[in-house]
Amino acid sequence: SGIQVSVLGLGAMGTALAEALVKAGHETTVWNRTPGKADGIVARGATEAATAGDAVRAAPLVIACLLDHASVHEVLDPLTADLAGRTLVNVTTTSPAQSRELAAWAAAAGVAYLDGGIMAVPQMIGQPGSSILYSGSAEVFQQYKSLLDLWGVSTYFGEDAGLASLYDLALLAGMYVMFAGFMHGAAMVAPAGVTARQFAGTAAPWLSAMTGMLDQYATVIDGGDYTVEGQQSLEFSSLDDILAASSEQGISTDVVAAVQGLIQRQIDAGHGKEGFARIIESLR
Ligand code: NDP
Repeated sequence: SGIQVSVLGLGAMGTALAEALVKAGHETTVWNRTPGKADGIVARGATEAATAGDAVRAAPLVIACLLDHASVHEVLDPLTADLAGRTLVNVTTTSPAQSRELAAWAAAAGVAYLDGGIMAVPQMIGQPGSSILYSGSAEVFQQYKSLLDLWGVSTYFGEDAGLASLYDLALLAGMYVMFAGFMHGAAMVAPAGVTARQFAGTAAPWLSAMTGMLDQYATVIDGGDYTVEGQQSLEFSSLDDILAASSEQGISTDVVAAVQGLIQRQIDAGHGKEGFARIIESLR
């Protein structure tokens, strides 16, 4: 009959997580602040708890999937005595500092704590492409890894509970800046009569191919020597042509100018002959 597990929070995400547990045959108890959200999942085999306390007492493993950091405290602060000796896996989105705060709070209450960052939308849970990042207790991650794997690929980053959230936000930073770069390109070609769809057809394979550069950049950055042979120099990487063409097309240069600024700072400091990866020094 599987593992006894309780899920707190039946929003879109909590429901998807609980559904995957029920489907895999785990003895799943669910609770939601506002009643009425559990009917579907109860019909498929979950047990509804009347209170969050009942849900916590029903299982050694408690999953929290609530709105935010404050709601986790609101629900769990009155239940520290019940939680003591149990395991809390918190997949509510929180900042790195909030995750660390919850880990310290859990440690003080005698609760084993694992923090999770979900890199998926509810429909992706249990499907290919779903990825969940974890940090906090290595023991908890090991013990429950096969259960966590039901939701997506589970990756553990370390004992610092804030790491999963930090990775989550760092990955999103890369994603948003890449998307902004795509939007810039689409805006550039639009006055020439190119649709965004046409541009995407060329941009998608190009950007995918360029991800191959990340490994080389990482080697240079971690090595700390930006003069290594075979790199494209900062001088060669001037974005002036891109900026000029963007202006000629009548579009904003905000996105590209930001990158040009990072390059220029390194050139001004006398590093123009060094590799492009050196722009990370403009950010540090
Ligand atoms: P929803 O808005 O669908 O659900 C929010 C849930 O939190 C509901 O169960 C709600 O209960 C509960 N809640 C809110 N405030 C409180 C409170 N003060 N006390 C008790 N319960 C409370 O959100 P999701 O399910 O989509 O998201 C849940 C978490 O998962 C969030 O942290 C979100 O960032 C994260 N996440 C979501 C993703 C998504 O695509 N949906 C992707 C990645 C992460 P009630 O029904 O009573 O309002």
